[in-house]
Amino acid sequence: MQGKIALEEHFAIEETLADSDVFFGGPALWDELKHRLLDMQERRLREMDANGIEMMLPSLNAPAVQAIHDPKQAVELARRANDFLADEVAKRPDRFRGLAALPMQDPDAAARELARCVRDLGFVGALVNGFSQIGDPDNATYYDLPQYRPFWAETADLGVPFYLHPRNPLAKHAPIYDGHPWLLGPTWAFGQETAVHALRLMASGLFDVHPSLQIVIGHMGEGLPYSMWRVDNRNAWMKLAPKYPAKRQLGDYFHENFYITTSGNFRTQTLIDAMLEIGADRIMFSSDWPFENIDHAANWFDDCSISEADRLKIGRGNAMRLFGLQA
Ligand code: MN
Repeated sequence: MQGKIALEEHFAIEETLADSDVFFGGPALWDELKHRLLDMQERRLREMDANGIEMMLPSLNAPAVQAIHDPKQAVELARRANDFLADEVAKRPDRFRGLAALPMQDPDAAARELARCVRDLGFVGALVNGFSQIGDPDNATYYDLPQYRPFWAETADLGVPFYLHPRNPLAKHAPIYDGHPWLLGPTWAFGQETAVHALRLMASGLFDVHPSLQIVIGHMGEGLPYSMWRVDNRNAWMKLAPKYPAKRQLGDYFHENFYITTSGNFRTQTLIDAMLEIGADRIMFSSDWPFENIDHAANWFDDCSISEADRLKIGRGNAMRLFGLQA
């Protein structure tokens, strides 16, 4: 399929490059990954051209800004990364649009940086790498907490989507992975961490206050399409009232306030389950470059067994509508 839009695709600047050197073995692999992360205009565009991708919405690698304990430094790093991305987008505005990195360590500064990115730099949304460490390497702060309500109000006012991207849990908070490092990262821990964060947002009542807010999650929904029914329907005969502040069933928010992407999860069976649960109008193509290959994503997606109408929505139309992109 030509004209695809891809929106979970990453780059690094020199200061965040080392954040991506944790999952990969050996100097040859790291050399390749490093080049892929630092390149914006050459290999990236060649991959897009070769695989029918008209537009990419690049975002900073992970955990990057979210792992900077000092809020002031987080603010500065986010600003530098966003300015770098804006310059790169300006070279090819026909092929790129920016997603902002945000210093969530300081909710007011994050709201101001998002507004600056949208109004001054022309960005079309934000991508944030899970919880933020604030003032202490052992701190993990999640965005359902009350101090983030003004940030979400600004995001809703700006009318841009917020991509909740994975990071690993802190070792201290996740003893279940002790001695099993192969479960970290994209294998398992990323999805578990991000799914719980998404459920916290749903349960917090955030979407009762801001029904127009739209959150994007990757990797075919981080397991949620498979699990949302059980979240709302466990022990149904007991008819117990929910114990969370939100007014509705959590599945209602999943259906109205979430989009998912195909990043790093190129499996037709999984896509069809997601289509049955969240609907073809709320799924968008992505690859997760450079951690996954664009051709692996595109070759699978272009041939997978769905209708051509759904392929157009998932490959292009939904992203055009959600991010307000020009045809
Ligand atoms: Mn990613």
